[in-house]
Amino acid sequence: MKIVVHYSEIGLKGRNRPRFEDRLLANLRDGLIDLGDIRGQRLFGRLMLTLPDDIPFEQIRARIQSVCGVAYFSRVTECEPNFDGIQKGVDDFLESTRFESFGIRARRSEKRLPFTSLELERHFGHYVAQKTGARVDLKQPEVWIEIHAMNKVVFVLHGRQSGIGGLPVGISGRVTALISGGIDSPVAAFKVMRRGCYVRFVHFHSHPFTSASSQDKVRDLVAILARYQGPSRLHTVPFGEIQRQIVRDAPEEPRIILYRRMMFRIAQRLAESQGSLALVTGECVGQVSSQTLANLDSINRAATLPVLRPLIGEDKDQIIRSAEQLGTYSLSIEPDDDCCSYLMPNRPATKTRPEALERIEQLWDIEGMIKDAIDRSQFEVIKPVR
Ligand code: ATP
Ligand code: MG
Repeated sequence: MKIVVHYSEIGLKGRNRPRFEDRLLANLRDGLIDLGDIRGQRLFGRLMLTLPDDIPFEQIRARIQSVCGVAYFSRVTECEPNFDGIQKGVDDFLESTRFESFGIRARRSEKRLPFTSLELERHFGHYVAQKTGARVDLKQPEVWIEIHAMNKVVFVLHGRQSGIGGLPVGISGRVTALISGGIDSPVAAFKVMRRGCYVRFVHFHSHPFTSASSQDKVRDLVAILARYQGPSRLHTVPFGEIQRQIVRDAPEEPRIILYRRMMFRIAQRLAESQGSLALVTGECVGQVSSQTLANLDSINRAATLPVLRPLIGEDKDQIIRSAEQLGTYSLSIEPDDDCCSYLMPNRPATKTRPEALERIEQLWDIEGMIKDAIDRSQFEVIKPVR
């Protein structure tokens, strides 16, 4: 079976293109490899995959639809560049599909061919109408039959499947995402994946002071996210001791912000050792009291790496919709022992000042706390759940 994959070319210039194509091809291969022997090649601004015929197309479709950087793709029949050849390709398509109305679109990327796009459209429009009895509808047909003519080869496309767009994972570098069991952080991680970042994950939990439920949940969430980037790396960091220390030494109101600052410091240390270029969180402006601008500022100052907050301007209902599409929502709303509800203050501060927080933190051996938490953290590689 042959599949042609199109990517969006906007913004892809000069030397970026081969890098982009190589990465996309490698990611497609990784995403399909366990289904069978797959070959891939570059082909005039698109990619061509060859797979064994016995793999169901539905399975292949689901896999390609989770590869970032794909604009759309089609199963194709490869034909000789003449009318007889193309007719065989069209017949092949007609065998596998029934429809009441269709449109035909032809495109030529080789001007030396002895026919124009318009001639192809007229000829095969007529041919398909006669053979199937279906009517031509160029506005909203049930199917589009596309003919892409190149120099030595012509493709007949069996309809278009849309991809998820974006950039191939890995092309933008590596980042470290702070993932809770909540709704927001998985969506935030996905958004940067879709922009070409390979995401490593870090999760903080309060086990053994609470159950280990948040860890199980995060593993399952990462397994869903791994569909889009392949096997994914997760650090789970015990955070209960640090929380108890914060509770012991600090007033109640700024507690959450102090938790977050420690999370940032630990995540940053991991990120640096992993070659990550930024942290990623699911924060947005004003959603909860810990996310006022003043508090975001206080949290930010604990890290020197850039902090990406892809959801910063989104409404909760938009985020929920994205989580539903991503497939993480139903899992995220299941109850768990989130470390932030462990030792949660009654009235969290909406306005903290970094200097005041620093005065409290001066009492601590921050370096020792970071090191101890990382020493006791667990690392695992999580495979995609299909
Ligand atoms: P989420 O749905 O992502 O949990 P939220 O709306 O509950 O977000 P907060 O609880 O304030 O917001 O968390 C803000 C961000 O801090 C999260 O999106 C996540 O990136 C990070 N974070 C919070 N708790 C944890 C945790 N236990 N482990 C790792 N990161 C966390
Ligand atoms: Mg949360």
